[in-house]
Amino acid sequence: MAPRETVDVTIDDGPLLTLLSQAPEKHQTSRAAHPVEPQTSKRTNSFAKPAISPDAEIDHLAGREITNYHESRSFYVIAPADAADRIWEHEADLPGNTLVAAIRHFMMNGERTLLLVRDGDLKAFVVKEEALKRHARPARDQEIQNSDFAKTFALTRERVIDRIRDDITAQPALSFVLTVDLCQSRRTWDQDLFDRLLALSDLLGRPLDVGIAITGKWALRHKHNFGALKRWSAQGKLNITWINHSMNHPLRPDRFGNYHFLTDKEVDLRNDVLSLEVLLLENGITPSIWFRFPGLVYDRRVLRELNDLSLLALDANVWLANAARITDGAVVLVHGNGNERAGLRKLFRELDKHQGKLLAAETEILPARAALPIGRSDAPLLLSQILFR
Ligand SMILES: [Zn+2]
Repeated sequence: MAPRETVDVTIDDGPLLTLLSQAPEKHQTSRAAHPVEPQTSKRTNSFAKPAISPDAEIDHLAGREITNYHESRSFYVIAPADAADRIWEHEADLPGNTLVAAIRHFMMNGERTLLLVRDGDLKAFVVKEEALKRHARPARDQEIQNSDFAKTFALTRERVIDRIRDDITAQPALSFVLTVDLCQSRRTWDQDLFDRLLALSDLLGRPLDVGIAITGKWALRHKHNFGALKRWSAQGKLNITWINHSMNHPLRPDRFGNYHFLTDKEVDLRNDVLSLEVLLLENGITPSIWFRFPGLVYDRRVLRELNDLSLLALDANVWLANAARITDGAVVLVHGNGNERAGLRKLFRELDKHQGKLLAAETEILPARAALPIGRSDAPLLLSQILFR
């Protein structure tokens, strides 16, 4: 793939991260949209090093330097002979004959590295490119065509996903996905929300599934809370799906006072999305294929751009602050950033109401993957619907 031009990421107080898809010495200087404060301008020179101190105990992958980050879409099949081997640096669960899509290429601490997505549940893994090449072969066209990955991205080219798949909601239990948005905010987060989720994990005897839609601006402003989320995830107290909610969560009103979020023509969606992935990776977190549009605002253009990045837009059909209750198959949205107590009050009430059934598995809180629109039985596709070639 031809290298793209260098892009810069800005936050309120100036350029923060520079994403490179070519050699660092070639990168341009900032083209920040906002004036640069003198005390923060030095950060333009320190590429991709957000000021978050890694916790050595839990961040076995942290302290990583990510450079030359760019998207791709290439397919491999893991060799059957390696099924039983632990060939993957971080115990990626990639048994033999698994089809994988490499959706990102980058340098991690100087080594060529891939973000792989496993076919089926579309879970992501970080793997050294050298290890993959040693233990996998390129996928054949037919294998690609028949993959759930390909079918999913063909189906979601111009649409969002906002509810759990029908074959799952057909079960007798009430099922829903719980997502918590952490948009940028100066306010203290809602500690009682997270206490409540942790307590529910304890009661269930397993980590509760929760989607955390995180923005870079929030993570950088609330490092301590971000650290707590990482710790709960690493310690198996919460089963977090890290949903990309963009680096900057653009909030710039037009002259009529309307907010366009990522559909603002001035916003570089690719940059805003990929730089959040870099921030997560540098913090030892593997990004997922899920994305939540800021403000739940999107149009055809940004949906296509997101699809080209091999990400899926997880919308919400029950924004609890504006809804009466949780319904079967819902993707539920609350905010945990101190900005929406009304939604949390309803969530606590709903959790009280359903607690008995949750413990009896008659109500289930499911991971985001329950909303994947594709099952195994769907018809094959044309390659032209999958590959950009
Ligand atoms: Zn938001």
